[in-house]
Amino acid sequence: MTAEARPLRPDDPLITLKGIGPKTADAMAAEGLRTVVDLLLHLPRRYEDRSHLTTLDSPLEPGMRVLVRGRVTRVRVRRIPRRRLLIIDGQIEDAHGSLKVVWFNQRWLGKRLEKEPELFLYGQIREARGGSLELLNPEIEEAAEDVEGIVPIYPTLARFGGRRLRKLIKQCLPAIEQCGDPLSKTKGRPGDLPDLRRSLRELHAPTLPRKISQREELLTELNHRRSQFHRRLSFDELLAFACTMADSRERRTNASAPRLAQGTDVLDRASELLPFQLTGAQSRVLEEISRDLEKGRAMARLVQGDVGSGKTAVAALTMLMVLEGGYQVAIMAPTELLAEQHARTLAEILTGAGYPPSLLVASLPAPDRREVRRRLAEGTASLVVGTHALFQESVEYRRLGLVVVDEQHRFGVVQRTALLEKGRSPHLLVMTATPIPRSLALTVYGDLDLSIIDELPPGRRPVRTVLRPSDARPQVFKFLRKEITEGGRVFVVYPLIDASEEIRASALAEHEDEVRALLPGVEMGILHGRLSRMGREDVTARFRDGSVQVLLATTVVEVGVDVPEATAMVIESAQRFGLSQLHQLRGRVGRGCRPAWCILFADEPLGDDARQRLEVVCKSNDGFEIAESDLEMRGPGELTGTRQWGPAGFRFANLIRDIDLIVETRHLAATLAETGELARVRKRLAKYQHVQPGRQGG
Ligand code: ADP
Ligand code: MG
Repeated sequence: MTAEARPLRPDDPLITLKGIGPKTADAMAAEGLRTVVDLLLHLPRRYEDRSHLTTLDSPLEPGMRVLVRGRVTRVRVRRIPRRRLLIIDGQIEDAHGSLKVVWFNQRWLGKRLEKEPELFLYGQIREARGGSLELLNPEIEEAAEDVEGIVPIYPTLARFGGRRLRKLIKQCLPAIEQCGDPLSKTKGRPGDLPDLRRSLRELHAPTLPRKISQREELLTELNHRRSQFHRRLSFDELLAFACTMADSRERRTNASAPRLAQGTDVLDRASELLPFQLTGAQSRVLEEISRDLEKGRAMARLVQGDVGSGKTAVAALTMLMVLEGGYQVAIMAPTELLAEQHARTLAEILTGAGYPPSLLVASLPAPDRREVRRRLAEGTASLVVGTHALFQESVEYRRLGLVVVDEQHRFGVVQRTALLEKGRSPHLLVMTATPIPRSLALTVYGDLDLSIIDELPPGRRPVRTVLRPSDARPQVFKFLRKEITEGGRVFVVYPLIDASEEIRASALAEHEDEVRALLPGVEMGILHGRLSRMGREDVTARFRDGSVQVLLATTVVEVGVDVPEATAMVIESAQRFGLSQLHQLRGRVGRGCRPAWCILFADEPLGDDARQRLEVVCKSNDGFEIAESDLEMRGPGELTGTRQWGPAGFRFANLIRDIDLIVETRHLAATLAETGELARVRKRLAKYQHVQPGRQGG
C-alpha cells in the first residue's frame, strides 16, 4: 500500500498542491509564486466575521454584511448589451423568509445556481430602487467549513480569484509547522513579537476569541494590519533590509580609499574662499566630513539640509580637501541648469585656489565634450561638474577621489553606483535638499552616514506662502508689480508635470500672453527644458542682472537658480505638485535679505484633501515637517522621486506605522554585523522574503 504521505514543506513547489497543474504553476511563477511559502506570504487583504448565520426574518439594514443560507429560486438572467451588463437576480429563501439577490456580470453563475439545493451567500445589503433591500454580488460558499469564523479575503493575483487562493492557501497551512523561525537563535529580537509559525497561522486562520467584544477587536486589528502577527512579518522584512544595508555599508567602508588630511587646513581658509562666514551647522558638517576623509576608508555620507541651507559651500570645501590631496573630483547634478549654476558658483570659489571647473553636459558640442574627457583621463582637469553625462562609459578618470551627488532625490541608486565604479573607491558625498522623513532616511538611505545642516544662513526670513483664489489674480499681479518696481524679481511657475518637455514649452508660450497682459511693460524671460544651452544661459544671466524681471518657467527651476534678488514666486495649478516639491520650488526665493512671498493658485474646484495639503505648505516652513506630511498623505511611493527606489515599497512594513521597528532593526543589524552573524541571519531571513514579480533579478 502507499506509504504515509510526507508532510508538505514550505519549499515544495506549488505543483505539489491539489488543483495545480503545470500550466497553473507556470502562471503562478509569472506572478513570483513558486513554492508553498510564497503562497503563505500572500496575506489576506482583509478579514470578515462570518461566524454567525443570519436568518431571513432578522431585521436587515443597508450596509450590513450578512451570511445567509438557503435556496436560490426564481433565477432570471438579463443582458443589457448597450451597457455591457449581465444581470442575474433571484430570491434566496430559508425557513424563515426570503431576500432578493443580484449579481452583476457573473456569467458562469446562472446555471450553477439552479443546480444547488442549498447555498451559503455572503455579501452586503443595499437599498434597491424603490426602497426594498437586496443582497448585492454575494460570494457563494458550498462547504460549511469555509464559512465558519473569521474568513480571510485574499487579494486577487492576476487570474487567481480570492476564493481560489483561499482554497489553495488552506492546503498550504500544514506546511507552516515545518517553517523554522529564522530568528530563533538571534539575540535582540524583541521579546513581545510572536513566533513566525504562530504569526503565519493566525494571519491565515485567525483563532476566534469567544467573547464578541474581543472578536471585534481582533477583527479591527487584523483589518488595519496592526496585529502583532503583522508586526512580526514587518520586523523580519525590515531586518532583512537593514542587514542588506549594513552589509553594503560594511563592504564600502572596508574598501580602502585615499587618506586625505587636508581638512583642517581647508577649514582654516574658509573665510578667505567664501564671501560669507560658515554657519555653525555648515562647520559642524564639514568637520564630520573632514574626519571621514582622514580615515583611509571610503566615506559615504548623506548631507541633508533644507533648501537654501548652503549645501553648495559645504560641497565646495569638501572638494577642495580632496583636490588639495592631489585627487580628481566630480560633482553630478540632475539637470543641466543646475550643473551650470554649480559650475558658476564653484568657479568663484575654487578657480582662485587653482581648480577651475570643467563642465560636462550632453548639450555641449561634441569636440568640447571630447576635450573634457581627454583631460579627465589625462589628469589635467581636476574638477568636473556635470549631469549623467559624467558616468557614461566613455568617461575615464585618472585619479578620481570624490564623487558628489547633488539633489540625490532626482537620481536612482543605479546612477549613484555607476559613478562610484569609475574610481577605485572614491569618497562619496550625497546632498539632498528634499528633506527625507526619518523613516526613509533610515531605510532607503540606510547605507549612508547622515549629516544634517539644521540652520539657515543668518538673516533669512521664512517665505510667506498663501493660497489665493483665481479671481484674486489682478490684485496679486498688482502686488508683483510693486515688488518689481522696488527691485525685486519674480518667478511664475507652471506645473505641466506629466507633459513632455515639448508640450511644456508650447503651453508656457500660451501663458506668456496672459502674464504680459497682467504685467505690461515688464521684461519677461521664459525658461524650460527645451531651450538650447545658450538660450538658457542667456535668460538666466538676464534674470540675474535684472534686465529680465519676470521668469516664466517650468519646474526646471526647482533646482539650480540662485538669484538673491528674487522675492516672489507664483505657482499655478499648485495642487498638482507634491508638497516637498512646492517647498523646494519656493526655496528659489527668499535667498536674499528682503522678505519673500510665494503665492499659490490652484485649479477650481479644489477638493478638501487638496486644500488641506496646500495649507500644510502655507503654514509650515520646515521641510522636514512638510516631507513627513507628504509621506503620511500620499505614501512613500509618491514622495518626490522615491518611487524609483524600490525598497521604499515594502511588502509588509509601513514606513509610518513601523518607525519603531525601523529603528530597532537597524540597531540589530549593526549588532549582527559586529558579532559576525550578519550573513547567517540574512540567509535565514531570505527564505521568508517573498520575491515580488518585477523585482526579481534577471
Ligand atoms: P542649498 O542648500 O539649497 O543648495 P545653496 O548652497 O544654493 O543652498 O545656498 C543658498 C544661498 O545661500 C546661496 O546664495 C549661498 O551663497 C548662500 N549661503 C550659503 N551659506 C551661507 C552662509 N553661511 N552665510 C550666508 N549666505 C550663505
Ligand atoms: Mg543646492
